[in-house]
Amino acid sequence: MSGIVTRFAPSPTGYLHLGHALSALFAWDAASQVPGGRFLLRIEDIDPHRCRPEFDAALREDLSWLGLSWPEPVRRQSEHMADYQAALDRLGALGVTYPCFCSRKDIADEIARAGNAPHLVAMGPEGPLYPGLCRHLDRDAAAARVVAGESHAIRLDVAKAVALTGPLSWHDRGRGLIAADAGLLGDVVLARRDVPTSYHLSVVVDDALQGVTLVTRGEDLFHATHIHRLLQALLGLPVPDYHHHGLLMNEEGVRLSKRDGATALRALREAGLDPASIRQRVRPVSANAENFH
Ligand code: GLU
Repeated sequence: MSGIVTRFAPSPTGYLHLGHALSALFAWDAASQVPGGRFLLRIEDIDPHRCRPEFDAALREDLSWLGLSWPEPVRRQSEHMADYQAALDRLGALGVTYPCFCSRKDIADEIARAGNAPHLVAMGPEGPLYPGLCRHLDRDAAAARVVAGESHAIRLDVAKAVALTGPLSWHDRGRGLIAADAGLLGDVVLARRDVPTSYHLSVVVDDALQGVTLVTRGEDLFHATHIHRLLQALLGLPVPDYHHHGLLMNEEGVRLSKRDGATALRALREAGLDPASIRQRVRPVSANAENFH
């Protein structure tokens, strides 16, 4: 029996905190509940400016302390850029990508300009969407700029992509059948200016390559799943099940983050907490995964 395969996929940009413990235990428990289930650890370290080896070592130590284990070697995204490039080439061959030469400032200026005509600024769940400045550049002229070495990102032309795939959906274990709204995040970046891939692209490629059958992660990434589903369809990849869990909040009702230093797992450990009490702290949210809003 092949069983279920889950993964916990942190970025080594800081120490793990209680929110990470919730995510990791959620994935671990989902895999442990079925015979033959497997839990994987994946290191999402595509950003060389923010990721540090000491955080990589620390997170393994924290996860082991929590009682988790995983097959080695773990997949480290920084070692697999060729896989992401192959996927990018495939999308390029489908004609659903374009180079984007915009700086952050170009984008902000364009959004500010369009702000005078609000119907022109499409809003997404995380703020205004990319206004599409480079979407209609002359193809040959844009290609010549790329060849000349001009710095650029690669974006997904979502409208073209959706025209190819037609309507899509996925199954979320908490929310049921979800119709994909691929335009939700606009023409997302698939390869950054400074890194030849992106969160969206590498996660989709890796989940497929690693045979992940159930993607568990926080509801803050629910929007991302719409675009991941589209990428899976374009790349001909299998579609895992999803389960987005609620998030732990701090006392002000704001999502726990690295800024809440006191919740770092190692700080809690040093303060005398044991793994059972960490489980206790995250249980109310993970037990309610079906009911988050
Ligand atoms: N690396 C992502 C993060 O740390 C999680 C990716 C995912 O679970 O899809 O937020």
